[in-house]
Amino acid sequence: MYDYLIVGTGLFGSIFAYEATKKGKKCLVVDKRNHIGGNVYCENIEGINVHKYGAHIFHTSNKEVWDYVNKFAEFNRYTNSPIANYKGKIYNLPFNMNTFNKLWGVSTPKDAKEKIEEQKRKIGIIEPKNLEEQAISLVGTDIYQKLIKGYTEKQWGRPATELPAFIIKRLPVRLTYDNNYFNDKYQGIPIGGYNVIVEKMLENCDVELNMDFFENRDELEKKAKKIVFTGMIDEFYDYKYGILEYRSLRFETDILGEDNYQGNAVVNYTDSQTPYTRIIEHKYFEFGTQEKTVITKEYPAEWQKGDDPYYPINNDKNNELFKNYKELAKKEEKVIFGGRLGDYKYYDMHNVIAVALEKVKEEFGA
Ligand code: FAD
Ligand code: UDP
Repeated sequence: MYDYLIVGTGLFGSIFAYEATKKGKKCLVVDKRNHIGGNVYCENIEGINVHKYGAHIFHTSNKEVWDYVNKFAEFNRYTNSPIANYKGKIYNLPFNMNTFNKLWGVSTPKDAKEKIEEQKRKIGIIEPKNLEEQAISLVGTDIYQKLIKGYTEKQWGRPATELPAFIIKRLPVRLTYDNNYFNDKYQGIPIGGYNVIVEKMLENCDVELNMDFFENRDELEKKAKKIVFTGMIDEFYDYKYGILEYRSLRFETDILGEDNYQGNAVVNYTDSQTPYTRIIEHKYFEFGTQEKTVITKEYPAEWQKGDDPYYPINNDKNNELFKNYKELAKKEEKVIFGGRLGDYKYYDMHNVIAVALEKVKEEFGA
Protein backbone atom coordinates (compact mmCIF):
# COMPACT_ATOMS: atom_id res chain seq x y z
CA MET A 1 0.00 0.00 0.00
CA TYR A 2 1.33 3.43 -1.01
CA ASP A 3 0.61 6.72 0.73
CA TYR A 4 0.31 8.52 -2.60
CA LEU A 5 -0.44 7.50 -6.15
CA ILE A 6 0.90 10.33 -8.29
CA VAL A 7 -0.43 10.50 -11.83
CA GLY A 8 2.05 12.31 -14.07
CA THR A 9 5.85 12.59 -13.93
CA GLY A 10 5.91 16.24 -15.05
CA LEU A 11 7.28 18.94 -12.74
CA PHE A 12 4.19 19.04 -10.54
CA GLY A 13 4.00 15.27 -9.96
CA SER A 14 7.77 14.92 -9.56
CA ILE A 15 8.07 17.74 -7.00
CA PHE A 16 5.17 16.36 -5.00
CA ALA A 17 6.71 12.87 -5.10
CA TYR A 18 10.14 14.16 -4.06
CA GLU A 19 8.83 16.18 -1.12
CA ALA A 20 6.43 13.45 0.06
CA THR A 21 9.24 10.87 -0.06
CA LYS A 22 11.42 13.20 1.99
CA LYS A 23 8.65 13.22 4.62
CA GLY A 24 8.82 9.43 4.77
CA LYS A 25 5.77 8.78 2.55
CA LYS A 26 5.69 5.95 0.04
CA CYS A 27 4.86 7.10 -3.49
CA LEU A 28 3.96 5.34 -6.69
CA VAL A 29 4.36 7.65 -9.68
CA VAL A 30 2.77 6.62 -12.98
CA ASP A 31 2.84 8.13 -16.45
CA LYS A 32 1.16 7.10 -19.65
CA ARG A 33 4.20 8.17 -21.66
CA ASN A 34 7.30 5.96 -21.96
CA HIS A 35 9.53 8.47 -20.13
CA ILE A 36 9.53 10.76 -17.11
CA GLY A 37 9.49 14.57 -17.12
CA GLY A 38 6.22 15.42 -18.85
CA ASN A 39 6.67 18.28 -21.29
CA VAL A 40 10.16 19.22 -20.11
CA TYR A 41 11.58 15.87 -21.24
CA CYS A 42 14.72 16.03 -23.42
CA GLU A 43 15.93 13.36 -25.81
CA ASN A 44 19.62 13.10 -26.59
CA ILE A 45 20.12 13.10 -30.36
CA GLU A 46 23.63 13.44 -31.83
CA GLY A 47 24.86 14.66 -28.44
CA ILE A 48 22.27 17.45 -28.38
CA ASN A 49 19.52 17.73 -25.73
CA VAL A 50 16.42 17.94 -27.88
CA HIS A 51 13.45 19.59 -26.17
CA LYS A 52 11.02 16.91 -27.27
CA TYR A 53 7.87 18.91 -26.50
CA GLY A 54 8.92 22.38 -27.62
CA ALA A 55 11.47 24.95 -26.45
CA HIS A 56 11.66 25.14 -22.66
CA ILE A 57 13.47 28.14 -21.22
CA PHE A 58 13.46 28.46 -17.48
CA HIS A 59 12.76 31.95 -16.14
CA THR A 60 11.45 33.32 -12.87
CA SER A 61 11.62 36.27 -10.52
CA ASN A 62 10.73 34.05 -7.57
CA LYS A 63 13.91 33.44 -5.56
CA GLU A 64 12.42 30.51 -3.67
CA VAL A 65 11.62 28.78 -6.97
CA TRP A 66 15.04 29.60 -8.45
CA ASP A 67 16.89 28.31 -5.38
CA TYR A 68 14.71 25.20 -5.42
CA VAL A 69 15.49 24.15 -9.02
CA ASN A 70 19.15 24.97 -8.54
CA LYS A 71 19.31 22.22 -5.91
CA PHE A 72 18.75 19.71 -8.69
CA ALA A 73 20.86 21.09 -11.54
CA GLU A 74 23.28 23.82 -12.45
CA PHE A 75 21.85 26.35 -14.91
CA ASN A 76 23.72 27.94 -17.80
CA ARG A 77 23.52 31.62 -18.78
CA TYR A 78 21.23 31.12 -21.80
CA THR A 79 19.07 34.19 -22.48
CA ASN A 80 16.18 33.70 -24.84
CA SER A 81 16.34 36.15 -27.76
CA PRO A 82 14.07 34.72 -30.43
CA ILE A 83 13.79 36.39 -33.80
CA ALA A 84 10.77 36.75 -36.04
CA ASN A 85 10.86 35.88 -39.72
CA TYR A 86 8.06 37.69 -41.55
CA LYS A 87 8.07 36.86 -45.25
CA GLY A 88 11.88 36.58 -45.27
CA LYS A 89 12.57 39.75 -43.25
CA ILE A 90 14.07 39.37 -39.78
CA TYR A 91 12.89 41.33 -36.72
CA ASN A 92 14.05 41.15 -33.10
CA LEU A 93 11.74 39.98 -30.34
CA PRO A 94 10.35 40.86 -27.91
CA PHE A 95 9.12 44.19 -29.30
CA ASN A 96 11.94 46.62 -28.59
CA MET A 97 13.99 49.43 -30.12
CA ASN A 98 15.70 47.00 -32.53
CA THR A 99 12.26 45.95 -33.82
CA PHE A 100 11.02 49.53 -34.10
CA ASN A 101 14.20 50.63 -35.87
CA LYS A 102 13.95 47.86 -38.47
CA LEU A 103 10.27 48.50 -39.04
CA TRP A 104 10.08 52.31 -39.04
CA GLY A 105 13.69 53.52 -39.20
CA VAL A 106 13.28 55.30 -35.84
CA SER A 107 16.32 55.34 -33.59
CA THR A 108 15.17 57.09 -30.42
CA PRO A 109 12.66 55.88 -27.81
CA LYS A 110 10.77 59.17 -28.21
CA ASP A 111 10.23 58.63 -31.95
CA ALA A 112 9.23 54.98 -31.43
CA LYS A 113 6.72 55.98 -28.77
CA GLU A 114 5.24 58.65 -31.02
CA LYS A 115 4.85 56.14 -33.85
CA ILE A 116 3.02 53.67 -31.58
CA GLU A 117 0.81 56.41 -30.10
CA GLU A 118 -0.08 57.70 -33.59
CA GLN A 119 -1.20 54.20 -34.67
CA LYS A 120 -3.14 53.68 -31.45
CA ARG A 121 -4.92 57.04 -31.82
CA LYS A 122 -6.10 56.13 -35.32
CA ILE A 123 -7.79 52.97 -34.04
CA GLY A 124 -9.10 54.66 -30.87
CA ILE A 125 -9.12 51.75 -28.43
CA ILE A 126 -9.81 52.84 -24.86
CA GLU A 127 -10.25 49.57 -23.01
CA PRO A 128 -8.86 46.53 -24.88
CA LYS A 129 -11.35 43.68 -24.76
CA ASN A 130 -9.52 40.96 -26.68
CA LEU A 131 -6.05 39.99 -27.89
CA GLU A 132 -6.23 42.08 -31.07
CA GLU A 133 -7.21 45.26 -29.23
CA GLN A 134 -4.67 44.59 -26.51
CA ALA A 135 -1.87 44.06 -29.04
CA ILE A 136 -2.68 47.23 -30.99
CA SER A 137 -2.83 49.19 -27.73
CA LEU A 138 0.63 47.95 -26.81
CA VAL A 139 2.54 48.20 -30.10
CA GLY A 140 0.32 49.69 -32.83
CA THR A 141 -1.03 48.24 -36.06
CA ASP A 142 2.18 47.61 -38.06
CA ILE A 143 3.64 45.23 -35.50
CA TYR A 144 0.25 43.67 -34.92
CA GLN A 145 -0.13 42.91 -38.64
CA LYS A 146 3.42 41.63 -39.21
CA LEU A 147 4.49 39.99 -35.98
CA ILE A 148 1.36 39.13 -34.00
CA LYS A 149 -1.80 38.44 -36.00
CA GLY A 150 -0.51 35.61 -38.22
CA TYR A 151 1.43 33.85 -35.46
CA THR A 152 -1.40 34.16 -32.93
CA GLU A 153 -4.14 32.93 -35.23
CA LYS A 154 -2.03 29.93 -36.30
CA GLN A 155 -1.08 29.14 -32.72
CA TRP A 156 -4.59 29.34 -31.29
CA GLY A 157 -6.70 28.47 -34.36
CA ARG A 158 -9.07 31.31 -33.55
CA PRO A 159 -9.38 34.96 -34.65
CA ALA A 160 -7.37 37.27 -32.40
CA THR A 161 -10.62 39.11 -31.66
CA GLU A 162 -11.89 35.98 -29.91
CA LEU A 163 -8.82 35.41 -27.74
CA PRO A 164 -8.20 36.72 -24.23
CA ALA A 165 -5.98 39.81 -23.93
CA PHE A 166 -3.74 38.28 -21.24
CA ILE A 167 -2.00 35.99 -23.77
CA ILE A 168 -0.20 38.88 -25.46
CA LYS A 169 0.67 40.55 -22.17
CA ARG A 170 3.14 37.70 -21.63
CA LEU A 171 5.51 39.48 -24.03
CA PRO A 172 7.47 42.53 -22.90
CA VAL A 173 7.37 45.78 -24.90
CA ARG A 174 10.50 47.85 -24.35
CA LEU A 175 11.81 51.20 -25.45
CA THR A 176 15.38 49.92 -25.04
CA TYR A 177 17.69 47.91 -27.30
CA ASP A 178 17.26 44.75 -25.21
CA ASN A 179 16.41 41.47 -26.98
CA ASN A 180 15.89 39.42 -23.81
CA TYR A 181 12.46 37.76 -24.25
CA PHE A 182 11.78 37.77 -20.51
CA ASN A 183 11.78 40.43 -17.80
CA ASP A 184 12.54 37.92 -15.06
CA LYS A 185 15.45 38.19 -12.68
CA TYR A 186 16.67 34.61 -13.24
CA GLN A 187 16.92 32.68 -16.50
CA GLY A 188 18.77 29.70 -17.96
CA ILE A 189 18.74 26.11 -19.14
CA PRO A 190 19.75 23.25 -16.85
CA ILE A 191 23.14 21.95 -17.91
CA GLY A 192 22.59 18.43 -19.25
CA GLY A 193 18.90 19.13 -19.93
CA TYR A 194 15.76 18.97 -17.81
CA ASN A 195 15.96 15.18 -17.30
CA VAL A 196 18.76 15.76 -14.78
CA ILE A 197 16.25 17.55 -12.52
CA VAL A 198 13.37 15.10 -12.85
CA GLU A 199 15.58 12.01 -12.50
CA LYS A 200 16.87 13.33 -9.17
CA MET A 201 13.35 14.14 -7.98
CA LEU A 202 12.09 10.65 -8.68
CA GLU A 203 15.15 8.60 -7.73
CA ASN A 204 13.66 7.26 -4.49
CA CYS A 205 10.11 6.60 -5.71
CA ASP A 206 8.53 3.70 -7.54
CA VAL A 207 7.83 4.76 -11.12
CA GLU A 208 5.70 2.93 -13.66
CA LEU A 209 5.72 4.15 -17.26
CA ASN A 210 3.32 3.34 -20.12
CA MET A 211 0.63 3.32 -17.45
CA ASP A 212 -2.54 5.24 -18.25
CA PHE A 213 -4.51 6.04 -15.11
CA PHE A 214 -7.86 5.70 -16.88
CA GLU A 215 -7.05 2.30 -18.36
CA ASN A 216 -6.06 0.96 -14.92
CA ARG A 217 -8.16 3.15 -12.66
CA ASP A 218 -9.74 0.56 -10.33
CA GLU A 219 -6.53 -1.28 -9.73
CA LEU A 220 -4.46 1.90 -9.25
CA GLU A 221 -6.94 3.58 -6.91
CA LYS A 222 -6.71 0.59 -4.58
CA LYS A 223 -2.94 0.93 -4.33
CA ALA A 224 -2.76 4.24 -2.43
CA LYS A 225 -4.44 6.20 0.33
CA LYS A 226 -4.41 9.43 -1.69
CA ILE A 227 -4.08 10.45 -5.34
CA VAL A 228 -2.23 13.41 -6.82
CA PHE A 229 -3.63 13.91 -10.30
CA THR A 230 -1.83 16.05 -12.91
CA GLY A 231 -3.73 14.90 -16.00
CA MET A 232 -6.80 16.57 -17.51
CA ILE A 233 -9.34 17.40 -14.80
CA ASP A 234 -12.35 17.05 -17.14
CA GLU A 235 -11.24 13.56 -18.14
CA PHE A 236 -10.98 12.63 -14.44
CA TYR A 237 -14.72 13.41 -14.17
CA ASP A 238 -15.52 11.69 -17.45
CA TYR A 239 -16.27 15.07 -19.10
CA LYS A 240 -19.56 15.24 -17.18
CA TYR A 241 -19.96 19.00 -17.63
CA GLY A 242 -18.42 19.08 -21.12
CA ILE A 243 -14.97 19.16 -22.72
CA LEU A 244 -12.33 21.76 -21.88
CA GLU A 245 -10.60 22.93 -25.07
CA TYR A 246 -6.87 22.71 -25.75
CA ARG A 247 -4.46 23.48 -28.54
CA SER A 248 -2.27 20.62 -29.56
CA LEU A 249 0.99 20.56 -31.50
CA ARG A 250 2.74 18.33 -33.98
CA PHE A 251 6.54 18.34 -33.79
CA GLU A 252 8.61 17.56 -36.87
CA THR A 253 12.25 16.93 -35.95
CA ASP A 254 15.15 16.62 -38.42
CA ILE A 255 18.84 15.87 -37.98
CA LEU A 256 20.83 17.98 -40.43
CA GLY A 257 24.35 17.35 -41.71
CA GLU A 258 25.29 21.03 -41.39
CA ASP A 259 26.42 22.56 -38.10
CA ASN A 260 24.41 25.81 -38.14
CA TYR A 261 20.94 25.96 -39.67
CA GLN A 262 19.44 29.21 -38.45
CA GLY A 263 21.99 30.79 -36.10
CA ASN A 264 19.57 31.03 -33.19
CA ALA A 265 17.68 28.68 -30.85
CA VAL A 266 14.23 30.04 -31.73
CA VAL A 267 12.94 31.58 -34.97
CA ASN A 268 9.24 32.47 -35.14
CA TYR A 269 7.44 32.49 -38.49
CA THR A 270 4.88 35.21 -37.99
CA ASP A 271 3.08 35.20 -41.36
CA SER A 272 -0.21 33.33 -41.76
CA GLN A 273 0.86 31.11 -44.71
CA THR A 274 3.80 29.19 -43.17
CA PRO A 275 2.06 26.24 -41.47
CA TYR A 276 4.41 26.09 -38.48
CA THR A 277 4.81 28.78 -35.82
CA ARG A 278 8.49 28.33 -35.00
CA ILE A 279 11.67 26.39 -35.68
CA ILE A 280 13.86 25.40 -32.76
CA GLU A 281 17.58 24.68 -33.23
CA HIS A 282 18.23 22.81 -30.01
CA LYS A 283 22.03 23.00 -29.78
CA TYR A 284 21.90 26.73 -29.05
CA PHE A 285 20.16 26.24 -25.70
CA GLU A 286 23.47 24.87 -24.47
CA PHE A 287 25.90 26.68 -26.83
CA GLY A 288 26.53 23.39 -28.65
CA THR A 289 29.45 22.98 -31.02
CA GLN A 290 28.46 19.58 -32.49
CA GLU A 291 29.15 18.92 -36.17
CA LYS A 292 25.49 18.24 -36.87
CA THR A 293 22.37 20.09 -35.79
CA VAL A 294 18.83 19.09 -34.83
CA ILE A 295 15.83 21.28 -35.64
CA THR A 296 12.14 20.99 -34.78
CA LYS A 297 9.24 22.64 -36.56
CA GLU A 298 6.17 23.26 -34.39
CA TYR A 299 2.81 22.85 -36.14
CA PRO A 300 -0.21 23.92 -34.08
CA ALA A 301 -3.36 21.80 -34.26
CA GLU A 302 -6.83 21.69 -32.76
CA TRP A 303 -6.93 19.21 -29.89
CA GLN A 304 -9.16 16.14 -30.19
CA LYS A 305 -9.65 13.42 -27.57
CA GLY A 306 -6.53 11.24 -27.61
CA ASP A 307 -4.16 14.06 -28.70
CA ASP A 308 -1.60 15.64 -26.40
CA PRO A 309 -3.18 18.66 -24.68
CA TYR A 310 -0.42 21.26 -24.79
CA TYR A 311 -2.12 24.61 -24.26
CA PRO A 312 -5.29 25.20 -22.21
CA ILE A 313 -7.42 27.79 -23.99
CA ASN A 314 -8.23 30.07 -21.07
CA ASN A 315 -11.07 32.06 -22.63
CA ASP A 316 -14.28 32.92 -20.73
CA LYS A 317 -16.17 29.88 -21.99
CA ASN A 318 -13.53 27.37 -20.87
CA ASN A 319 -12.80 29.18 -17.61
CA GLU A 320 -16.52 29.01 -16.73
CA LEU A 321 -16.62 25.30 -17.52
CA PHE A 322 -13.47 24.72 -15.47
CA LYS A 323 -15.15 26.30 -12.43
CA ASN A 324 -17.66 23.41 -12.38
CA TYR A 325 -14.88 20.86 -12.30
CA LYS A 326 -13.04 22.90 -9.67
CA GLU A 327 -16.13 22.69 -7.43
CA LEU A 328 -16.05 18.89 -7.68
CA ALA A 329 -12.30 18.89 -7.01
CA LYS A 330 -12.77 20.93 -3.82
CA LYS A 331 -15.07 18.25 -2.40
CA GLU A 332 -12.52 15.48 -2.88
CA GLU A 333 -10.91 14.27 0.31
CA LYS A 334 -8.47 11.86 -1.25
CA VAL A 335 -7.56 13.55 -4.52
CA ILE A 336 -5.26 16.53 -5.05
CA PHE A 337 -5.26 18.17 -8.50
CA GLY A 338 -2.35 20.16 -9.85
CA GLY A 339 -0.23 21.29 -12.77
CA ARG A 340 -1.09 22.75 -16.16
CA LEU A 341 -3.77 20.15 -16.90
CA GLY A 342 -5.13 19.65 -13.38
CA ASP A 343 -5.55 23.41 -12.82
CA TYR A 344 -6.33 24.12 -16.50
CA LYS A 345 -3.99 27.12 -16.51
CA TYR A 346 -1.41 28.44 -18.99
CA TYR A 347 1.36 27.94 -16.41
CA ASP A 348 5.05 28.30 -17.13
CA MET A 349 7.48 25.97 -15.36
CA HIS A 350 8.15 28.42 -12.54
CA ASN A 351 4.39 28.75 -11.90
CA VAL A 352 4.04 24.97 -11.71
CA ILE A 353 6.93 24.75 -9.25
CA ALA A 354 5.43 27.51 -7.08
CA VAL A 355 1.98 25.86 -6.95
CA ALA A 356 3.51 22.42 -6.33
CA LEU A 357 5.51 23.76 -3.37
CA GLU A 358 2.35 25.47 -2.11
CA LYS A 359 0.43 22.16 -2.27
CA VAL A 360 3.28 20.40 -0.48
CA LYS A 361 3.05 22.97 2.33
CA GLU A 362 -0.74 22.51 2.56
CA GLU A 363 -0.34 18.75 2.75
CA PHE A 364 2.65 18.39 5.06
CA GLY A 365 2.97 21.78 6.78
CA ALA A 366 5.85 24.21 6.26
P1 FAD B 1 3.10 18.04 -17.73
O1 FAD B 1 4.53 18.32 -17.99
O2 FAD B 1 2.14 18.10 -18.86
O3 FAD B 1 3.02 16.60 -17.06
C1 FAD B 1 1.82 15.88 -16.94
C2 FAD B 1 2.17 14.41 -17.08
O4 FAD B 1 1.02 13.64 -16.77
C3 FAD B 1 2.58 14.02 -18.49
O5 FAD B 1 3.82 13.35 -18.47
C4 FAD B 1 1.46 13.11 -18.97
O6 FAD B 1 1.91 12.07 -19.82
C5 FAD B 1 0.94 12.55 -17.65
N1 FAD B 1 -0.46 12.14 -17.73
C6 FAD B 1 -1.51 12.87 -18.14
N2 FAD B 1 -2.63 12.13 -18.09
C7 FAD B 1 -2.28 10.92 -17.64
C8 FAD B 1 -2.99 9.72 -17.40
N3 FAD B 1 -4.31 9.63 -17.63
N4 FAD B 1 -2.31 8.65 -16.93
C9 FAD B 1 -0.97 8.70 -16.72
N5 FAD B 1 -0.24 9.82 -16.95
C10 FAD B 1 -0.89 10.90 -17.40
N6 FAD B 1 7.35 26.86 -19.56
C11 FAD B 1 8.38 27.69 -19.28
O7 FAD B 1 8.59 28.07 -18.12
N7 FAD B 1 9.22 28.11 -20.28
C12 FAD B 1 9.08 27.72 -21.57
O8 FAD B 1 9.86 28.13 -22.43
C13 FAD B 1 7.98 26.85 -21.88
N8 FAD B 1 7.78 26.45 -23.15
C14 FAD B 1 6.75 25.60 -23.42
C15 FAD B 1 6.57 25.18 -24.74
C16 FAD B 1 5.55 24.32 -25.06
C17 FAD B 1 5.36 23.87 -26.49
C18 FAD B 1 4.67 23.85 -24.04
C19 FAD B 1 3.54 22.91 -24.37
C20 FAD B 1 4.83 24.26 -22.72
C21 FAD B 1 5.87 25.14 -22.41
N9 FAD B 1 6.09 25.56 -21.10
C22 FAD B 1 7.13 26.42 -20.83
C23 FAD B 1 5.19 25.14 -20.00
C24 FAD B 1 5.72 23.91 -19.26
O9 FAD B 1 5.82 22.82 -20.14
C25 FAD B 1 4.73 23.56 -18.14
O10 FAD B 1 4.47 24.66 -17.30
C26 FAD B 1 5.18 22.40 -17.24
O11 FAD B 1 6.01 21.49 -17.89
C27 FAD B 1 3.93 21.69 -16.75
O12 FAD B 1 4.24 20.67 -15.83
P2 FAD B 1 3.06 19.73 -15.32
O13 FAD B 1 3.67 18.78 -14.35
O14 FAD B 1 1.92 20.55 -14.87
O15 FAD B 1 2.50 18.99 -16.62
N1 UDP C 1 3.17 35.92 -30.06
C1 UDP C 1 3.09 36.55 -31.28
N2 UDP C 1 4.20 36.59 -32.07
C2 UDP C 1 5.37 36.05 -31.70
C3 UDP C 1 5.45 35.40 -30.45
C4 UDP C 1 4.33 35.34 -29.65
O1 UDP C 1 2.03 37.03 -31.64
O2 UDP C 1 6.34 36.11 -32.47
C5 UDP C 1 1.95 35.86 -29.21
C6 UDP C 1 1.12 34.58 -29.50
O3 UDP C 1 -0.24 34.89 -29.34
C7 UDP C 1 1.59 33.66 -28.41
C8 UDP C 1 1.74 34.63 -27.24
O4 UDP C 1 2.27 35.81 -27.85
O5 UDP C 1 0.67 32.64 -28.15
C9 UDP C 1 2.62 34.17 -26.12
O6 UDP C 1 3.91 33.89 -26.64
P1 UDP C 1 4.91 32.93 -25.90
O7 UDP C 1 6.20 32.97 -26.61
O8 UDP C 1 4.90 33.26 -24.45
O9 UDP C 1 4.20 31.51 -26.14
P2 UDP C 1 4.61 30.02 -25.71
O10 UDP C 1 6.11 29.96 -25.60
O11 UDP C 1 3.90 29.75 -24.42
O12 UDP C 1 4.09 29.19 -26.84
